Amino acid sequence: MPELPEVETTRRGIAPHLIGRRITSVVLRRPDLRWPIPPEIGELLPGQRIEDVERRAKYLLLHTAAGSALLHLGMTGVLRVLPADAPVGKHDHVDLGLEAAATGARVLRFTDARRFGCLLWQAPGATHELLENLGPEPLTDDFDGDLLWRMSRGRTAAVKLFLMDNAVVVGVGNIYASEALFAAGIDPRRAAGSVSRARYARLAAEVKRILAWAIERGGTTLRDFINPDGMPGYFVRELQVYGREGEPCRTCGTAIRQVVLGQRSTFWCPRCQK
Ligand SMILES: [Zn+2]
Repeated sequence: MPELPEVETTRRGIAPHLIGRRITSVVLRRPDLRWPIPPEIGELLPGQRIEDVERRAKYLLLHTAAGSALLHLGMTGVLRVLPADAPVGKHDHVDLGLEAAATGARVLRFTDARRFGCLLWQAPGATHELLENLGPEPLTDDFDGDLLWRMSRGRTAAVKLFLMDNAVVVGVGNIYASEALFAAGIDPRRAAGSVSRARYARLAAEVKRILAWAIERGGTTLRDFINPDGMPGYFVRELQVYGREGEPCRTCGTAIRQVVLGQRSTFWCPRCQK
């Protein structure tokens, strides 16, 4: 499943080809993905110029004066900018035709084999309901240790589940939560409300460091970035705890343990994380 770094890498890859360009056509090869594709996509987008390409959590927004296309890659979604005459495959569900530039006519193509992704519409000035009630972006100044500390007071849920709660901060998926908690030396099972302000400052810094690192690396490996476990190959080699149950901690040699928290596999070192 694409996580925040892969979605941000996608945004950075497609944005230079889209911003400032006019959409000439919309081809919908099926009426729905995860949800029905709203009629505004076909009716209002043709003729509009793409003003910006934004990422919010794991959603991508193509902003135009008429409104914004809201995309989510789901489990298997891929967005590519291709020559307009590129052959259409079985899972190529949506094409946005782009006005010709020096490089010729192009399409933005949405491919999604399992169709857990979505293409929705956000009216100008509105916030789509999927984007309401989201916490801050982890890589902005709105997210820091004090925010985690304030929001966690009195909460008895495991700190890992707290960190993965999109109302607290968006985009910290299962792998990144396990790795950040290891880097910060915090036991993932610990009650969120029992973690000190200083330790949350360290945790927030580690979340930012690990996500920024993954985005940086994703930029050079996007073409073949998924291994059979669904994780980026470059990332698997660098993992400290995730997926390493029974293997020695890279810091202290103690066997890594696994537990299921909130139905997700969680990995930690019982010696390094308290
Ligand atoms: Zn250890």
